[in-house]
Amino acid sequence: MIIVLKPQVTDEQINQVVEKIKSQGLDVHISKGKFRTIIGVIGEEEAIRSLPLEAWPEVEKVMPVLKPYKLVSLEFRTEPTVVDVRGVKIGGGNFTVMAGPCSVETREQLFMTAEAVKNAGAKILRGGAFKPRTSPYSFQGLGIEGLKLLKEVSEITGLPVVTEVMDVRQIEDVKEHADILQIGARNMQNFNLLSEVGKTGKPVLLKRGFSNTVEELLMAAEYIAREGNDQILLCERGIRTFEVSTRNTLDISAIPVLKRLTHLPVVVDPSHAAGRSDIVPELCLAAIAAGADGLIVEVHPDPKNALCDGPQSLDLKQFQMMMEELRQVAQALGRKL
Ligand code: PEP
Ligand code: MN
Repeated sequence: MIIVLKPQVTDEQINQVVEKIKSQGLDVHISKGKFRTIIGVIGEEEAIRSLPLEAWPEVEKVMPVLKPYKLVSLEFRTEPTVVDVRGVKIGGGNFTVMAGPCSVETREQLFMTAEAVKNAGAKILRGGAFKPRTSPYSFQGLGIEGLKLLKEVSEITGLPVVTEVMDVRQIEDVKEHADILQIGARNMQNFNLLSEVGKTGKPVLLKRGFSNTVEELLMAAEYIAREGNDQILLCERGIRTFEVSTRNTLDISAIPVLKRLTHLPVVVDPSHAAGRSDIVPELCLAAIAAGADGLIVEVHPDPKNALCDGPQSLDLKQFQMMMEELRQVAQALGRKL
């Protein structure tokens, strides 16, 4: 249930409403907007219905939420959520580019990539330390060593970092070393992991599973939001279709569809969608044109010799050229890059 309060209600009145709801054993999530305060009530439907909400003088409107997610819905918060990563803002009109290698391999490789993507205009560095590889015999990432390198390079370059956490047992270490916790496509419905990253209060990049619907993505985000964490970036990274000319099919429609359903920022990963670097620049342009809030792009100084996802990684020059094109499109669209 969503309760929209009257515009002139005071903080004291808000507290009284909250206390009355809580006294019924229900949970509340408060969203204070510029003009209105909205209260999301969570709990047993019967207990919610037993409250005479419409009769309360502070209440303007009561709306049942028929969707299986609430806190991440546009009904709950009508203004876009801005995710703030050490001062780098994602959402609310900004267009933010995250870039870096699929996996951290060496200090030199990470440092070189970080400097190059920063100079080209990226605001956040990506790099995997724990890698979810399809084959157990493929490179699994440097683990803690990779996290340490990410932190070191982040400190030198000033770029915040995003890295994947695959398991609840890795949360402590990843939280210590990174600014955004990434939930990979294969873990989108690992509900315990979602709740635990929610509890950290750190920004989370939630990737859409390659066989998951937009609604399932939003329900996964709801698990994080339910822990009191609204710093969530939704990421479209391609879904499985019958098409074999790309690794996955970038679901461009998911961007405007999500924008109509949620206040959370939407970012696009063209690299895992395409699986081939040649079409990555076009997909980046399509993403901003379709209304995305940012990108996460794989970049490697020597893609041919990358230990993971080389074929889909842009080299340093290609990334720089892509950013130049992106800047022109951003300007035409009136977006801040
Ligand atoms: C990645 O970002 O390196 C990755 C493994 O992505 P995904 O979970 O989307 O496959
Ligand atoms: Mn990758």
